[in-house]
Amino acid sequence: MRCNACWRELEGRAISTTCGHILCNEDASKILSNDGACPICDQVLSKSLMRPVDINPSDEWVNMAMAGISPQILMKSSYKSIMFYIGQKELEMQYKMNRIVAQCRQKCETMQEKFTEKMEQVHTAYQKMAKRCQQAEQEIENLSKDKQELQEKFSEKSRQKRKLDEMYDQLRSEYESVKRSAIQPANNFYSRADHDLFANDLPDKKPLTYEEDPSLSLSDCC
Ligand SMILES: [Zn+2]
Ligand SMILES: [Zn+2]
Repeated sequence: MRCNACWRELEGRAISTTCGHILCNEDASKILSNDGACPICDQVLSKSLMRPVDINPSDEWVNMAMAGISPQILMKSSYKSIMFYIGQKELEMQYKMNRIVAQCRQKCETMQEKFTEKMEQVHTAYQKMAKRCQQAEQEIENLSKDKQELQEKFSEKSRQKRKLDEMYDQLRSEYESVKRSAIQPANNFYSRADHDLFANDLPDKKPLTYEEDPSLSLSDCC
């Protein structure tokens, strides 16, 4: 048995009420000193509507409490006691069910709060990412514009380079032709028919022998 107010396990003496409920001594005193209403059925209670009961009666009490009472009254009393016990077990089950439901509700509310918090975080992160994506798209657009401008400038510079290359080639060919025309008359001026004054191959001049050359002596030879 449990107290119908604080739901602690009852031991020793307790207080039963005429409305079919049971209380610990402390809660029975509190109820009488306050509004006097049963915590289960709200019936107004007074001391005359409360009966002290022994939760763990001694064998002596069990053996002699009902002595001299007729079986009809005993059966009626037993029936009432069993119905009281069943009512208490139903109340206890309902209390446990309510407690489980309250715990589940509490957990659901906590999970709901956490879920809402996470959803807000995700939403904030999504908004940040969306903003970054927008900025990145803007940067890509700007870079594309810059790239297009640079490509146009590169094309222009390439055109100018080609033109300069052509001009360079033209000037070089002109320079080559001028160079060739400048070298040609000089070759003509020193023609092969003319004698080179510094050449040794004079046709009439033979090398002198030692007999003819007075500077060469026999002693030099040997
Ligand atoms: Zn109690
Ligand atoms: Zn009651």
